[in-house]
Amino acid sequence: MRPSILYPLFCEIEALKGVGARYAKLIKNLCGEKIIDILFHLPYNITDRTATPPLIAAKDGKIWTGIVTITEHQPPATRKHPYRIYCTDGTSELVLVFFKAYPDSLKKNYPVGEKRAVSGKVEYFNGSWQMSHPDYVTFPEKLSEIARIEPVYPLTAGVTNKMLIKLGQEAWQRIPQLPEWLAPESLSDLEYISFQDALKRLHNPKNIADLSPSSTARRRLAYDEILSNQLALAFTRQKFKQKHGREFKGTGELSQKILSNLPFALTSAQETALKEIAADQQAPYKMLRLLQGDVGSGKTVVALLSMLKVIEDGAQAALMAPTEILAKQHFETITSLCQKQNINIGLLTGKMKAKEKREVYEKLASGEIKIIIGTHALFTESVIFKDLGYIVIDEQHRFGVNQRLALSAKGEKCDVLVMTATPIPRSLLLTAYGDMDYSKINELPKGRKPAQTVIMNTNKMPDIINALKKKLAEGTRAYWVCPLVEESEKSDLAAATERYEMLQKQFGAFVGLIHGKMKEVEKDAVMEEFKQGKKTLLVATTVIEVGVNVPEATIMIIEHAERFGLAQLHQLRGRIKRGNEAGSCLLLYSYPLSAVAKERLNIMKQTEDGFYIAEKDLELRGGGELLGTRQSGFTEFKLAVMPYHQDLLLKARDDAANIIKTDFLLETPRGKALKNLLYLFEQNEAVKTYLAG
Ligand code: ADP
Ligand code: MG
Repeated sequence: MRPSILYPLFCEIEALKGVGARYAKLIKNLCGEKIIDILFHLPYNITDRTATPPLIAAKDGKIWTGIVTITEHQPPATRKHPYRIYCTDGTSELVLVFFKAYPDSLKKNYPVGEKRAVSGKVEYFNGSWQMSHPDYVTFPEKLSEIARIEPVYPLTAGVTNKMLIKLGQEAWQRIPQLPEWLAPESLSDLEYISFQDALKRLHNPKNIADLSPSSTARRRLAYDEILSNQLALAFTRQKFKQKHGREFKGTGELSQKILSNLPFALTSAQETALKEIAADQQAPYKMLRLLQGDVGSGKTVVALLSMLKVIEDGAQAALMAPTEILAKQHFETITSLCQKQNINIGLLTGKMKAKEKREVYEKLASGEIKIIIGTHALFTESVIFKDLGYIVIDEQHRFGVNQRLALSAKGEKCDVLVMTATPIPRSLLLTAYGDMDYSKINELPKGRKPAQTVIMNTNKMPDIINALKKKLAEGTRAYWVCPLVEESEKSDLAAATERYEMLQKQFGAFVGLIHGKMKEVEKDAVMEEFKQGKKTLLVATTVIEVGVNVPEATIMIIEHAERFGLAQLHQLRGRIKRGNEAGSCLLLYSYPLSAVAKERLNIMKQTEDGFYIAEKDLELRGGGELLGTRQSGFTEFKLAVMPYHQDLLLKARDDAANIIKTDFLLETPRGKALKNLLYLFEQNEAVKTYLAG
């Protein structure tokens, strides 16, 4: 239950003055449902109305605030013309200009001969100052109420800044006196500003610096938010660790044989990862581990060897891939690696015939199948395992965090290994995967040649095609990836089809097309032809992004590379580093290219280090919106902005670990205050599961 002290902040926004049903809907869409959401909807800029010089000294194009005497009204000659009101402050003339105005209300608000305080942008025009549609007009004695600094909020159609200012003011005044949840050390680091004061300051900024991510107020709130996130993750992790798992030691019988039959030696990074996994497998708790390894670093064999441990001890293992193509590919790889070992390996995908599926279900239930490889179909209700002991999830970024949790529910005592080829920046690792242990394969197998990356304008198309002709004639295979068009699959497809037809004219029957809308069998057929070399140029939408393995393909052409994320480009480029041939990657762009886009493409050219690319990607995204409160889709933080608050993240992680160690059930006074923090940032799930039992 949410502590009652927080009720005022979790009222619906209708509780605020002046929020009728019509506005409520707009504001809820913009900020959120609750008063706390208004508080967390922070201004990104200020309007300075403090300049009140005599008009003669006003600055062109700036806000001017002051008292004027109204001298004359000039109604418009026609409806197209503006209504003008002439005023003066004794030093200069000011013309107030109104378009489409109601004369009656203007006459009432600006009676000739009286004084009014006005504020708005002034421009020098035709020998006098003009102010069109003043932001404020009021009685002279109220000048001080408008001559101040105002926050500027992110808006939406139908919601004015004035209204958000009003709501922000009301909202911060409703914050109850909350007991401090930060430890004295953190407070001193954060300059002793309280949660309440931080919000008050942000809704009443004195200057633009108050709103920057590095301001005292922003840092306090960012720390609060990050701490709540780290605490929730620490709880989840603790819960997991407390669960009893199985202790798989393995006899080594199968794994030794397979290891000695490998056509290569494991890299030392692969060995380290295997050791770390083995330690978890042997331990009495459930394993939840993330295995990060760049594209081509050899995760599959690591997954297989760790699965064999479980098989040796008599249990079953499952490997889940995000797509049918990948599931089949894993099935083939693993089957061939396990040749002669008499291990029953099964494949299960959603598109299989009902009869085939039923057969697999039976063999899983009887325990005949030891290793099952498949897609999401593996975790439908019909699938019952005799004794599932281990789940490996490949290419995790296609699965959400929730799926991860649902999955581990399937095997009550299962160990879980999540593999990802998308290097994850450190900050994201701590915030989104902070409940997991992790291993990293930071080394590629020996003998891999770097891929050469070239950036080129699309208008060089004829040259590109000529060069490609030569290469394909020499027996190379190439991918041609078509751009993302406004995230719509339909237009993606149109672009790919168009390119396919154009290339067909050049290369005839050697061109294949693969995209997400094709039937599984069709995709398989094209992929197979490409693997066998019947097709040598494969035009694709991003369906090939993940994991597809064709060692002969060494050329990757990406159109509109500027529209892809760096991580995605890195993934795509990884496709051509499967074999021992050096690959070349051609990044095509069209004008206009922004400075950031240029920098991003240059990073791709400079390095192949996926971890470096991931950090840079985050940096460039974060840096692009200095004062933005939200990071583009990366994490769900409202107040913290990741590259800026990374130092806080590291502190919060230690802080959370310490809290869990010393105040396990949040029973101390600080612990109780921390419960408020968790609820404020809606970590309700964590509180529920953790504090309930
Ligand atoms: P990824 O980590 O991208 O999933 P894979 O597991 O598909 O990479 O491995 C890529 C290729 O590298 C495969 O063809 C695999 O057989 C090969 N490979 C894996 N480990 C090694 C190694 N230690 N030495 C040489 N080749 C290896
Ligand atoms: Mg892989």
